Amino acid sequence: MTFEYAPAPEFRAIVTIKPKYGHFIGGKFVAGSKHFPTINPATEEVLSQIALAGKADVDAAVKAARKAYTNTWSKMSGKERGKYLYRIARIMQERAREFAVLETLDNGKPIRESRDTDIPLAAAHFFYHAGWADKLEYAGLGTSPKPLGVAGQIIPWNFPLLMLAWKVAPALAAGNTVVLKPAESTPLTALLFAEVCQQAELPAGVVNIVTGDGSTGALIVNHPGIDKIAFTGSTEVGKIIARAVAPTNKSVTLELGGKAANIVFDDAPIDETVEGIVNGIFFNQGHVCCAGSRLLLQENVAEEVLHKLKNRMEKIRVGDPMDKNTDVGAINSKEQLAKIIELAAVGDSEGAERWSPACNLPSKGFWFAPTIFTGVTQAHRIAREEIFGPVLSVLTFRTPQEAIEKANNTPFGLSAGIWSEKGSRTLWASQQLRAGVIWANTFNKFDPTSPFGGYKESGWGREGGRHGLAAYLKGVSHE
Ligand code: ADP
Repeated sequence: MTFEYAPAPEFRAIVTIKPKYGHFIGGKFVAGSKHFPTINPATEEVLSQIALAGKADVDAAVKAARKAYTNTWSKMSGKERGKYLYRIARIMQERAREFAVLETLDNGKPIRESRDTDIPLAAAHFFYHAGWADKLEYAGLGTSPKPLGVAGQIIPWNFPLLMLAWKVAPALAAGNTVVLKPAESTPLTALLFAEVCQQAELPAGVVNIVTGDGSTGALIVNHPGIDKIAFTGSTEVGKIIARAVAPTNKSVTLELGGKAANIVFDDAPIDETVEGIVNGIFFNQGHVCCAGSRLLLQENVAEEVLHKLKNRMEKIRVGDPMDKNTDVGAINSKEQLAKIIELAAVGDSEGAERWSPACNLPSKGFWFAPTIFTGVTQAHRIAREEIFGPVLSVLTFRTPQEAIEKANNTPFGLSAGIWSEKGSRTLWASQQLRAGVIWANTFNKFDPTSPFGGYKESGWGREGGRHGLAAYLKGVSHE
């Protein structure tokens, strides 16, 4: 039976997008000089003009953050800091629909995901860290933990507001002030967050937001007035940042790429597993650093899983991100679409077999149908490189040991998934896997209390939980 879905569009008028934005420095919006457009990737409509921060803007933001750190924030009791964080969290909840609509317009992700995942989790990060602000002495991180100072924070475009929350909430709870730069293609929710800071009457300069591209990011990384760099993005840029901070006293945390193995053993509950595979790779268009992009199937169930997976993929609804029925939205940018198309073509030329369900992609905007490649071997580039799109590479294995060897055969180590009904097998496999986060019989579950981060080329340090808090305190180990 086929269900026809009537359109269920979210109401766009809840957000007011200004034609042009400046930076948020010292508690005020200040005009920028140069500007660049931010667009809706589902329609290519220009949403607004965004300021490109140069040296003078970054200097002003760092100066404001230093002043707020020295005069106000580092002197304030944890209890008082906590009140501001609670206030921010509550305002984010109150304005959740506005944030969700704006995130979907600027990013292209389905409204269902921004409404049910990104925004509630972002608020949860502020609530969680508000609770820590007056309890730092009891976090097991030393008897008198001290903040680092001014944190420079650079975030990507895949979860714009959520990545802001991952960075800003622990920094503020621990007593640091921040200069944050959102990604060039998704700055709008960070700018709305600046309004929330004003609404919460957060002391001026505690949070500063400068917009721009990689050149602005580099100015933050190399600024002598910054004590800590927190970066989430590509491994390529992560390496540049690691080199830049190596000769300095700056602390650094890097959350980089991934190529997670999602391992299905032959005793796995197949129907639930198929849902988990779909969620693992097609959630957020596969723009997820911890996406389950390498599916490892035990040979004796491979055919059954693939049959059911293809059936399930036929039902995935791709299209207007503002429609509440949409499962997979637009690819975030033209550049990202070009990268996905290029790597998928490499998959074809290396002899893997491509399959996508029939889907009518909109004519405007950036789109890529959910895709799987079977017959992939470890030598294929699509088994080794991060595609960062809705593309799954499928490999098979015979023994549990072979699954572990294949799973660990990657320069990355961010996440992994295990599907099995046997607890002892799950525990055994999780001990063998070299990945920062391992999900059992589920995938892509996030929680502010749980540390997140990778091994090897997936990064340094952890975000979330007590481990994440440690990364914003002096003299505490990050791992
Ligand atoms: P992606 O591949 O996800 O676009 P990037 O690593 O290019 O990831 O971008 C992540 C963030 O890093 C963005 O905010 C981007 O502007 C910023 N960025 C890019 N290049 C640099 C750089 N050389 N130094 C600092 N930040 C950078």
